[in-house]
Amino acid sequence: MSSILSYVQPTANSPWGTYLSQVDRVIPYLGDLARWAETLKRPKRALIVDVPIEMDDGSIAHFEGYRVQHNLSRGPGKGGVRFHPDVTLEEVMALSAWMTVKTAAVNLPYGGAKGGIRVDPKKLSLKELEKVTRRYTSEIGIIIGPHSDIPAPDVNTNAQIMAWMMDTYSMNVGGTATGVVTGKPLHLGGSLGRVKATGRGVFVTGREAARRLGLDLRGARVAVQGFGNVGSVAAELFAEAGAKIVAVQDHTGTIVNENGLDLAGLVPASRTDGGAVSFKGGDVIDNEAFWEVACDILIPAALEGQITAERAQKTKARLVLEGANGPTVPTADDILAERGVLVVPDVICNAGGVTVSYFEWVQDFSSFFWDEDEINVRLDRIMMNALNNIWDTADKHKITLRTATYAVACERILMARQERGLYP
Ligand code: GLU
Repeated sequence: MSSILSYVQPTANSPWGTYLSQVDRVIPYLGDLARWAETLKRPKRALIVDVPIEMDDGSIAHFEGYRVQHNLSRGPGKGGVRFHPDVTLEEVMALSAWMTVKTAAVNLPYGGAKGGIRVDPKKLSLKELEKVTRRYTSEIGIIIGPHSDIPAPDVNTNAQIMAWMMDTYSMNVGGTATGVVTGKPLHLGGSLGRVKATGRGVFVTGREAARRLGLDLRGARVAVQGFGNVGSVAAELFAEAGAKIVAVQDHTGTIVNENGLDLAGLVPASRTDGGAVSFKGGDVIDNEAFWEVACDILIPAALEGQITAERAQKTKARLVLEGANGPTVPTADDILAERGVLVVPDVICNAGGVTVSYFEWVQDFSSFFWDEDEINVRLDRIMMNALNNIWDTADKHKITLRTATYAVACERILMARQERGLYP
């Protein structure tokens, strides 16, 4: 019998393999709801689309696009769209599943979804990027919508791309539908605070975890992998709180300064073609040496599978804050737990982005927009409540914060599943 699952070959440390092992670990804590657990191991719906465009030189190029709706039990699908040359169906399945867990962990009325295009956007002109975005949006238009599935930015996508998606969908339905995507520009129904929300959530959950560990943020040494929207904003907030950013790794390499990198110089340098290593206020070291840097807090804020078993053995950090989705493989998770390194898992740590996406969607529907203070106060409250609840669950069962987050989230998802019942 064929199923969506037959199209992917996960391995123990691949994204879907990692996700499956995370689900297996929570099953003993689900009680009678475990009966429904298989639901979590199967995406509800996966769409693969061809995205052909005419390139600037007149040639025709084809890209492969995906939109996976992992689970819609608690509400419409929600999750970003990633443009990356290595995107695969398997990866998008895992990312969509992590969205299901994430929205439930912070109790937003959403399911989980994710999309992606297998393309290197750095190799496209602006016009080609717009064409790819519009054709992809039109192709997945049969399953997205303000009440069914709401895309948002993710790796290599931004407010401009969301504006093109919103416009394309709106043209096809014959009316402006701002609520179909979040992370839009401010004057097109975007929300204040959305751009910084993910990094802010990493900081808020990290600050609370540090407090509980007795780790003073003043003088704490922080190493950040990935210096995009998530890593750089989190770094700035930690620096404002008195921490020293001692190491940063981006796609150009690794730069260190044990006295703290000056972010006022590093952030603009990292936005140029030369990347983080073009900044003169630190020493460039080998990429693998990043994982051994003397630090208290490690923030993986790039792609999946970065913290391997070997790197988990090496890290000097006491606290890992998962800004990225799926950065730690299951064997590394076990090693970190054995070594007493506390991990605040992705599905709570980086939930700030989707939380402010939810605020944006609510504001679009009510056509009433909040000020930035209100956004940030609400964001902080939701993140803190979710984290405290998860911490209590972890203490009660003596389990990791990751398994505790899955316990809280999966109970909500499967309870909704059970109460809705099977149709027909
Ligand atoms: N891409 C972000 C994430 O992984 C945000 C998704 C959203 O806002 O829907 O959580």
